[in-house]
Order: sequence, then structure tokens, then C-alpha cells
Amino acid sequence: MVSTLTRQGLHLDAADLGKVRRSALSASTARALTHNCAAGYAFGKLTGETAPDPFAATTQGTAVHAVLEELYNLPAGKRTRRRAANILLSMVAQWRHDKYPQLNDPVTRQLFIADVIGKYQGIFEIEDPRDTDVVATEWPLAGIELGGVPFIGYVDVTQRVTARGRTGLRPVDHKTSNRIPDKRKLELYGDDHGDQIRLYAAGLRKIQDEPVIEGRINYTRHGKSRIVAVSVKRVAQTVGEFARAWDIHNGMVEQAMFPTKTGPLCGWCPLVQLCPAAQATKFNTDRTDSQTALCATDLIAIDPAAPSREAGVSPTSTVSPGEPGKSTNQAWEGLIMAEHVLAEDKPWEEIVGGKLNGASYAATGYFGISSLAYELLGRHDVPIQRIAVDAMTNVLAAIVTDVQDGLSGSTSFQEGTNTRLRGVLRTVLESVPPPFGEDASTWETWIKMTTGHTRSIAAAAVRLAGTDDITPDLDTLASIAPLRKKD
Ligand code: SF4
Repeated sequence: MVSTLTRQGLHLDAADLGKVRRSALSASTARALTHNCAAGYAFGKLTGETAPDPFAATTQGTAVHAVLEELYNLPAGKRTRRRAANILLSMVAQWRHDKYPQLNDPVTRQLFIADVIGKYQGIFEIEDPRDTDVVATEWPLAGIELGGVPFIGYVDVTQRVTARGRTGLRPVDHKTSNRIPDKRKLELYGDDHGDQIRLYAAGLRKIQDEPVIEGRINYTRHGKSRIVAVSVKRVAQTVGEFARAWDIHNGMVEQAMFPTKTGPLCGWCPLVQLCPAAQATKFNTDRTDSQTALCATDLIAIDPAAPSREAGVSPTSTVSPGEPGKSTNQAWEGLIMAEHVLAEDKPWEEIVGGKLNGASYAATGYFGISSLAYELLGRHDVPIQRIAVDAMTNVLAAIVTDVQDGLSGSTSFQEGTNTRLRGVLRTVLESVPPPFGEDASTWETWIKMTTGHTRSIAAAAVRLAGTDDITPDLDTLASIAPLRKKD
């Protein structure tokens, strides 16, 4: 068997499975397998190191970490901006001869240096490195188990600090990411940066006796940092999640299949143009400007025709009550219950073990939209067939995500903006009913109109949020009148 990517996932042969399976789990792998696309993760392990690109985010992140590691290894008084720049320059002088020959070009070299400095310089706004008590840099946490799971991790910097009257260790991690997750995102998607620190705290507590009193994440591009709570209770919760991620990993290894998970990130996946799952969704656009997206690959086979879970059910199967010879329940069971397709977990976890979490915010959205589609068909006496339910569900979802994308830059059903817009759409549909029985161009006009109304209502809400003085505008109110019909 050759490793094959289907709509369901990446099915691995024995040799490839050996490359993908982990003997120990890191915080980032746990996150990738439980929250992101496991098939994409597995493919990354098969491709290994690609041609070095000095401007890739991972390369620049590695460069920042190398500079900061060397800086914090210096005697305290020498940890200055100037020394950091000198460290980078001497690394670049070496890299242009081995890792990144592109840096021999003087313009490329200057751009690279400017980029990397831009990504670490915020550290000097967060703290004065000369005032920090560094216990270790790149402390290796290996050969230990957390929650019974073999763990691997390296703590960027471990400091000794005094806080709230206690002295102890503070594991610190440097992040060069573009965005700092805000409170809402942390609540919705979980706190993977904080979880990483809590796993470090658990690891440090295992291998040494000094108390670990807090953790810290430095967003070095932005000059911002945040303290991470490492109470025994919080750490135990994170370790529990980590153990669950290990079970999920082992389940995938047992099945020799790493499931696909489509979403906006598909646009940056090298498989986006080949992946049957992504190609079947609206997330099928290459957003890498063909930088990394593959047109073909020898590493794996692609099977777009592998049977999907819905195989065997005619798209035009009527699911209306009263269909001769087939009950509604039978039809729906054939449609979605070929196997258990939903998992159950906390609402901020959209996907669990490769399955949609039925308790997630996103599932509420998906079910809400498909219910609304069903309701509209019934209200307008349209026969309820699978093809009609799907078409109506898709058009409603497209309207919501189109407006959502403009408002928050996301199309995720897991987000609060999506929930708000589904409510707005329901209101709009009261005054702009779907044109059942009309031609495609009438539907096109309806979609534009409905999207426009949804966007207008959302814009009014956003304007309201930005208004300090909320008082009735009587003059404007007095100038508003109903449209008069011409006789
Ligand atoms: S394109 Fe999307 S679904 Fe397919 S492997 Fe990549 S991230 Fe996963």
C-alpha cells in the first residue's frame, strides 16, 4: 500500500507511519493533532525539511530564538540591544556560508536582518535582560512523563523571580507570532500558549525541587508579555488534556489514518490544491501565492474518489414526512449515521479526534443553519429533498461567512461574530424571502440583496458600538417615512 490522501484523511503505509508516529509528545504536536488538521501535520512529517527560505516564518522564528538564547546566556550586564544585534550579525555571517546561501545577496541580507531584529526587539520593551536572573536557557525537558505520556520540550528561558512574596522559577517562552491572542480568542479556542507553559511547569516540577511560581509568554515582536498561572489545579487540567491528545495520537496510529480538517488554514497548506477534502469546500484557494502549494507530489497518492461517509444515499432522496416506502428517520439515518460522526467535548473544542464536537459553538452554528434551511423549505412548500436542504444550507452559510469575513477576517462557525450574523440573517429573511421557483439570475440577485441587508445591519451594530452619545435623533426620525405606493 502507498500512503494515500482521501477526503477522510491521510492513510499511511507502514514506513510512513513510522515517520509520523511520535515516541514522545510536545506541546505543539499535541495542539496540532487535536486542534488543527492531523493530515496536514502528518504530511509535514513526511516532507521533512524543505528548501530553506530565510523569510519563512519558521526560519525567522528560529533565528529570533537563537539570538535570544545567546543573549540570555551572556553575563547579565552584557545583555544589551547592541550585543543582540552583534549576535545576529555574526550568525548571519555564518549562515550565508551554510544554511542560507541566499544571504550572500546584500539586499536580501539586509532585509533578513531587519526582519529578524523587528521580531525580537520587543524583548527590550518587556524587560531589561540585564536585570533578569537566568537559571537556564533551552532547558531540555526530556525523558519524563506527564500524565503518563512521554513528554518532550525545551524551555526558552527559565528565570528566578520573586512574585507575591514568593521566590521561585518562571518558565518563559518567546513567541514571534503576528498576533497576540485576545481574551475572546483564548476563551473560544483555548490557550495553547498558556498550556505550553503549564506543561513546562509540570515538567520542571518533576525534575527539580525549586517551586515554579508562574510562567510568562513574551510576544517579542510586539513588546508585550503575559503571565501564565501555573497553580497545581490549572496545570493538572492541562496535563489531562495533554494525556487526551496522546490517546488521540495513538488512535490515529492504530488506524494508520490522520484525519483531514478543513478550514481557513487550508489556504496555507502545501496540499491545498491536491487535497480532496479542501477541494470539496470553499477553503480550496491557494493563499501561498504558489510559494509552497504543490501541484503534484511523489510522496503520497491522492484519491479524490474514495467513498465518503454519505455514499449510497441519493442526493435527491426525499426526507419529507410521508414519502412512500421510506420513513424520514430511515432517510436521515442513511444520510448521516453511517457511522458515529460526532464527538462530545467542551464547547470551545471544534474538532475532537478528527470529528466535529457536537457540543461546540461551531456545531451549534452548523445545526442552526441547516435547521433554518429546512424551515424555509417547509414554509415555502418546497419538497424537502437532500439536494434542496444542502443547497439552501450552503447559500445561507455563504451569506453569513461572506459578511463575517469582512467583519472579523474569519469564516469560522466557532466564532461569536458568526453567531451574531446568523441572528441577523434570520431577521433579514423575514423581509427578503428566498425566490423559490425562480431562475439562477434571480437567485443571484437575491443572494446579493440578502448579503447587503445582513452587512448593513451588522454595520449599524458596529456603528452603535462606536457611539459615545446614545440619544434619539428626533430630526432624522421625523424625516423618515414609509414608501408610498403609486396609484
Ligand atoms: S488542505 Fe486542509 S484539509 Fe487538506 S491536508 Fe491541508 S489543512 Fe488538511
